[in-house]
Amino acid sequence: MISVFEPEIGDTEAAYVLDSLKRGMISGTIRGDYTGRFEALAAASCETQFGVTTTSGTTALALAVASLGLTAGDEVLVPSLTNIATAFAVLYAGAKPVFLDSEDITWNIDPKRIREKVTPRTRAIIPVHVYGHPVDMDPVMSLAAEFGLYVIEDNAESHGGEYKGRRTGGIGHIGCLSFYINKIVTTGEGGMLVTNDSAIAEKARCLKNLGYSDRDRYIHSDLGYNFRLTNLQAAIGVAQMEKIDVLIERRRRLASMYTERLRGIAGLHLPVEQPWAKNVYWMYSLVLEPELASRDSVRDRLLAKGIETRNFFYPLHRQPVFQNMGIVAKDESLPVSESLGDNGLYLPSSPSLPEETIDFICNAFRSALQL
Ligand SMILES: *Cc1c(COP(=O)(O)O)cnc(C)c1O
Repeated sequence: MISVFEPEIGDTEAAYVLDSLKRGMISGTIRGDYTGRFEALAAASCETQFGVTTTSGTTALALAVASLGLTAGDEVLVPSLTNIATAFAVLYAGAKPVFLDSEDITWNIDPKRIREKVTPRTRAIIPVHVYGHPVDMDPVMSLAAEFGLYVIEDNAESHGGEYKGRRTGGIGHIGCLSFYINKIVTTGEGGMLVTNDSAIAEKARCLKNLGYSDRDRYIHSDLGYNFRLTNLQAAIGVAQMEKIDVLIERRRRLASMYTERLRGIAGLHLPVEQPWAKNVYWMYSLVLEPELASRDSVRDRLLAKGIETRNFFYPLHRQPVFQNMGIVAKDESLPVSESLGDNGLYLPSSPSLPEETIDFICNAFRSALQL
C-alpha cells in the first residue's frame, strides 16, 4: 500500500530525544533547553520574533483566540474549506465562527467575499493557507485594518510558504503551526503560536501554563490551560527544523513530478502557484470536474491498485455539529467550497516518494479516469 503520507524521522531526532530523556528534561515547563531552541527556530521560519509551543495545532489556534481576548458575542471569519480545528478553536472561547467561501484557483478564502460577512460583532479573521498555497494576504490585511479585525493565520499547512517574498504565519497578528505527523515539520503531536507582538506572546505563554505569572506565581488572574508541549517533543522538533528546507524542497519536487505527468487533462484541476506565491504543496491535491470522472470511483480504482488517497475537507458550513448548534443555517450556500469538497482529492505526498512510484501512481490515475 502506498500511503498518503509517511514522516521523515532520522537519527538526529532519536539522538536529541535520548539526550533530553537522559537528563530528565521530559516535561513541558523546563525552558531554555530544546523547547527554547525549537521556539526560536520555528518563529524565525515564519519571520517572527516569538514562538510559544503548544500541544497541537488545535490548541495553538485556541490559545491565539484566548490571547486576543475573543469571547461570547464575538464573530470570527473562517473559511468553510479547512480542517475543523480552525472553527472549533473559535467555539472553545464561546465566540462564533462565520464561514467564508473559497476561490476556485487557490482553494483559499476569496477576499472578495469578506466584506459581505463583516458585522458590528466581527473581531477577527482566520485565513488558512490551504494545502500549502498562501492566501492572497494584501486584501485580507487591508480589510482587517479597515474593520479593526485581528488576523490569525492558520499556517498548519503552509509552514515555510511565502506571500510576495514574506513568510506565511508572520503576516497577521498571530500565526499558528501544527506539528502533527503529516505536517511539514512534525513532533508527532504539537503546535506553536508565533507572533511579533511581545504582549501577545507573553499573554500566550502565561495562558498555556494555567495562567501562572512570573510576578506572583500562585495568583491567577486569567482562565488558563495546560497546553504545554514536552521537551521530548521539542527535541524532535529541533531536529526537524534543522532540515525544514530539505523537507520543503522535496515536497516541491514531488509536486513538479506530479504536475509534469498530469498536466493537460481537460476537466482536471492541478494545484497552482500564483506568481506572488511560494507553495509548499503540503498535500498534492486535485479537483476533478464531475463530467470528467466521479471522484469516489477514481479513489476506489486507485485503492484497488494499492494507492491510498483522501478527500478534500468536507465544508464546515455543512457539518452536522455546527448545524445542530445553530451556528449556521441549514440552507447556507457556499458553492465553491461545496464543489471543492465534493470533487477534490489528494494523492500520496510523502516527500521521499521515488520517481518510479510517481510514474506508477500517475499511470494508475490516468487509467482510473479511463482516458
Ligand atoms: C492540521 C491542521 C490543524 C490542526 O492541527 P492538529 O495539530 O491536528 O491539532 C488546524 N488547521 C489546519 C489547517 C490543519 O491542517
